[in-house]
Amino acid sequence: MNAVPLNPSRPSAGKVWLVGAGPGDPDLLTLRAARLIMSADLIVHDGLVDPAVLAMARADAQLVSVAKRRSRHTMAQDDINALLVREALSGRDVLRLKGGDPFIFGRGGEEAEACRAAGVAVEVVPGITAAMGAAAAAQMPLTHRDSASVVSFVAGQCKGLTEQDWSGLAGKGRTLVIYMGLATAEVIADKLMADGLAPDMPVAVIEKATRADMRVQRGPLAGLGALVAEHRVVSPAIIVIGDVTAINDKEMRKLALEAIS
Ligand code: SAH
Repeated sequence: MNAVPLNPSRPSAGKVWLVGAGPGDPDLLTLRAARLIMSADLIVHDGLVDPAVLAMARADAQLVSVAKRRSRHTMAQDDINALLVREALSGRDVLRLKGGDPFIFGRGGEEAEACRAAGVAVEVVPGITAAMGAAAAAQMPLTHRDSASVVSFVAGQCKGLTEQDWSGLAGKGRTLVIYMGLATAEVIADKLMADGLAPDMPVAVIEKATRADMRVQRGPLAGLGALVAEHRVVSPAIIVIGDVTAINDKEMRKLALEAIS
């Protein structure tokens, strides 16, 4: 990428827009995000950003992917930070587009800090985070007057997962949403059961939420690992643990029974 300003006489630095692209469906973008995507000339995006969202960009916009895939080419976070700062200091406005919300497991906080430290102005535009997109698409309320008054979002792929204190995050009256927990689903189930959660606590795995090929799998906590394996659930997917995951399931079954009786 050319780090030299296109117009070296331009006195002011550009700005970095840290923007949430939502969980997939472009209709779930905020109006501000949509406007910025349609007008940006430089978009630096993650692998999670849906192609349909990227398709809204100007035909002559420069799209830079910094996709983070565990096994494939990755751009280190420091390099991403440096890229944003370099482009902004050269006078360009940078649209940093991230899946979901930039401040939920998106490392948006680090990027904003790096920009501020370099004297680059940052604006943040929220996006619909995967948990909320998935809950809406699966018609599974994260809170419910009868079954959940607390909801927690946790990252399931962290180092030292088994040592982390998750006590109190899941159980009766609570909903636990796990991001990035597909590969560790079995470890997570064991950990929660060791903490005292009932093996028959209902869980749901929501894959590619809000996209045309979204799938929802449901089952008991004890079978979480098997559920993921049997249905060959692929990323991106979130795991929801709690009684709310059975609400729509029960209602759907009731409707199905009514329809055939
Ligand atoms: N900033 C993002 C989360 C990034 S972490 C947000 O706010 O949504 C990446 C994880 O998000 C994935 O491993 C997966 O757990 C979850 N995720 C993102 N998009 C998803 C989708 N469309 N459906 C299900 N899970 C999704």
